[in-house]
Amino acid sequence: MITLDNVRKEYSSEVAIGPVNLEIPTGGITALVGPNGAGKSTMLTMIGRLLEVDSGTVTVGNMDIASAKSKDLAKIISILRQENHFVTRLTVRQLVGFGRFPYSGGRLTTQDEEIISKYIDFLGLRPLEGRFLDQLSGGQRQRAYVAMVLCQETEYVLLDEPLNNLDIAHSVEMMQHLHDASREFGRTIVIVLHDINFAARYADYICAAKDGQIAAFGRAEEIMRDDLLTEIFNTPVQVIEGPHGPIATYH
Ligand code: ADP
Ligand code: MG
Repeated sequence: MITLDNVRKEYSSEVAIGPVNLEIPTGGITALVGPNGAGKSTMLTMIGRLLEVDSGTVTVGNMDIASAKSKDLAKIISILRQENHFVTRLTVRQLVGFGRFPYSGGRLTTQDEEIISKYIDFLGLRPLEGRFLDQLSGGQRQRAYVAMVLCQETEYVLLDEPLNNLDIAHSVEMMQHLHDASREFGRTIVIVLHDINFAARYADYICAAKDGQIAAFGRAEEIMRDDLLTEIFNTPVQVIEGPHGPIATYH
């Protein structure tokens, strides 16, 4: 379980996130949704300790992240940020290998190499493993970053808009991979999604943020409601019943 207890971040006198009180259950996928600027990335990076909280407590598993050692933290929680993915003369395999850093430092063991291969295969990157990152499409690069994060083999995985740059087919594929990772490998995945319909289809829980606060938390069928989504997204939303469950429509 991930617990945020009265967590606050004040960027300026006008922009403050929180206080956030939230419990993210262990297991499955929790989607963090909400309009631009709602505070999703801020909340995720505070959970991953890439951003310091101003006040309050974040607990991951039974670890208080404020006092955890970096090395211990990196073994239970991994995070893919929304921006500044570096693109350098690294191959896909080298990038994915960075996920093993908390375990092996710079020296990869045979076992590390096997784990790297496992995630390269898991994300269908085998034909691309020798390619340099700057020789990939945006979507292929995105998959390589997700493979790196999964390769860290942490119980908790935080992903900020990993569907950016992906077309519909690759978005569906990515969500299926993540769904499989949560089931097969028992990961707890917290994912910021732009598209509420991907959240409804693939997430076990949806957490909706608005104006720096948590506006709603629940299972998809509890969140996929006209009034609630209209309020959260500040625009008329109508939920219809699709072949796989509720779909939000707007125009
Ligand atoms: P989201 O991910 O939901 O789009 P963010 O967490 O990125 O939202 O941003 C929440 C609010 O905090 C926005 O108003 C944004 O402009 C502001 N903000 C984010 N990062 C910073 C920063 N480093 N300095 C000042 N304000 C920031
Ligand atoms: Mg964001």
